[in-house]
Amino acid sequence: MSYPVIRILEGHDRRLRQGSPWLFSNELQIDRHAKELAPGTIVRLVSHDGKAMALAHFNAHSLIAARLLSRNPDRAIDSGFLRRRVERALALRERLFDVPYYRLLHAEADGLPGLVCDRYGDLLVAQLNSAGMDGLRAELEAALLAATGAARLLFRSDAQMREREGLPAEPSDAEPAPDADTTAPAGSPDEAATVIVENGLRFAADPRAGQKTGWYYDQRLNRRFAAGLARDATVLDLYSYAGGFGLTALAHGARSAMLVDRSAAALALATHSARLQGCSDRIETVTSEAFEALDRLGAERRRFGLVIADPPAFVRSRKELPTGLKGYQKLARGAATLVAEAGFLGIACCSHNVPEDQFLKAVHAGIRAAGRSGILLHRAGAGPDHPVHPALPESAYLKFLVFVLD
Ligand code: SAH
Repeated sequence: MSYPVIRILEGHDRRLRQGSPWLFSNELQIDRHAKELAPGTIVRLVSHDGKAMALAHFNAHSLIAARLLSRNPDRAIDSGFLRRRVERALALRERLFDVPYYRLLHAEADGLPGLVCDRYGDLLVAQLNSAGMDGLRAELEAALLAATGAARLLFRSDAQMREREGLPAEPSDAEPAPDADTTAPAGSPDEAATVIVENGLRFAADPRAGQKTGWYYDQRLNRRFAAGLARDATVLDLYSYAGGFGLTALAHGARSAMLVDRSAAALALATHSARLQGCSDRIETVTSEAFEALDRLGAERRRFGLVIADPPAFVRSRKELPTGLKGYQKLARGAATLVAEAGFLGIACCSHNVPEDQFLKAVHAGIRAAGRSGILLHRAGAGPDHPVHPALPESAYLKFLVFVLD
C-alpha cells in the first residue's frame, strides 16, 4: 500500500522510539501538502532523514496529529489488519472473563487509537473518537461483528473528544434502532434495559441512552473490593449512576444502601437492578446533587459504615487542576464526615490530568478537614479490560483509594 508521507522533525522521533503511540503537531513537518490531507488520512511516518518508521492516522487540525496504527511501515491497514487487532483484544478478554460483558477495545492500549468498544453480550457499543477511526466506521463494524459474532453494533460519540478532532459534535448514535422490541419509550427503563452480568450479579444497563456506553466496566474490581468491606454495614453510594457499588455491596451482605445521583434515569436503572437481585427492600435512591446530599446528611448527623464517592471528572484540562483538586478535597471532607468510626471511605478520580499522588494528598487533606484521620487500605485503577499504555500515563486515568477512618 502506498500512503502519503509525513516527515518527523529532526530530533523528534525519540518519543516514538521510546514507545509513544502519539506524535504532536509540533513534532511533525506540517507543510501545505500535509495540511491538505483530509483529517484521519492514513500516513507513513518517516524520520527527518527519510527512514520509514510507522503508519498512523493523521489529522493536521488536532494537537495529537499522528496516532500510531502500526510500527511496520509496510503493512496494509485493511480489514484483515482491523480484524486481527480486534481478535487479539477479544482473546485477552475471553481469558479474563467468563461472560461476554466487558470493555472489548480500549483505544491505544489495544492498538486501535481513538476507538473504544464495550460489549453487552451480543450488543457492541463503539465510540469513534478520532477522525481516523471515524473514517473506518464501515470496516470496523464488519471486523467487530465478524470477530465477536455479536448481533448488533451501536455507535455512540463522545462529543468533547470529537470536537477536538474537528468531527461533527452531534451525537451520531442514531444508527437505525436495531430491534424495535428492545427500544422502549423513555421512562420505562425496565424494557429499555439490557441486562449485564458483573461479579456474578445481574444489572440493568442502558447502552442506547445511558452515560458513556451505558455501564462503567472500569470499576468492576473496585466494586468487588469495596463490597468485601460492607458486611453488615450501611452504605452510602454517592454519584451512584446505575448502582454498581451500592448493589454489589448489598449482595455481599450490606444492611442497606443509599444511592445518590442527580440523574433520575440512572437511579431508575438501579431500582430495576435491585429487583433483579431481590434486594429492593434494602435500597433507597435519592435524586440529588451530591454536595447538597452531603450537607443534608451531615446536618442530620447520619453515619455510614462505607461511603463511596465516584464523581465525574472534576478536572478536564490541566488548567483546571488546582480548582479540581480543591473539589476532590471538599468531596473527601463531606464524605469523611459521614463515615462511622472504623468505617471505610472509597473515593475515585477519573480525571486523567490528576496524578495519583496529588489526588491522595487532596483526599487526605479533606479527611483532616473533617476532623478525622485514617489509613490508606487500598489503592487501585481500572480493571484489566482497560489496560494502560505504558507510554501514555494519562491512560491510567482512574484512581481509587480506600481508607479506614478512625
Ligand atoms: N459510580 C458509578 C459511576 C459514576 S459516573 C458506577 O459505579 O457505575 C458519575 C455519576 O455522577 C453519573 O451517574 C452522573 O449522573 C452523576 N453526577 C454528575 N454530577 C453530579 C452531581 N453534581 N451530583 C450528583 N450526581 C452527579
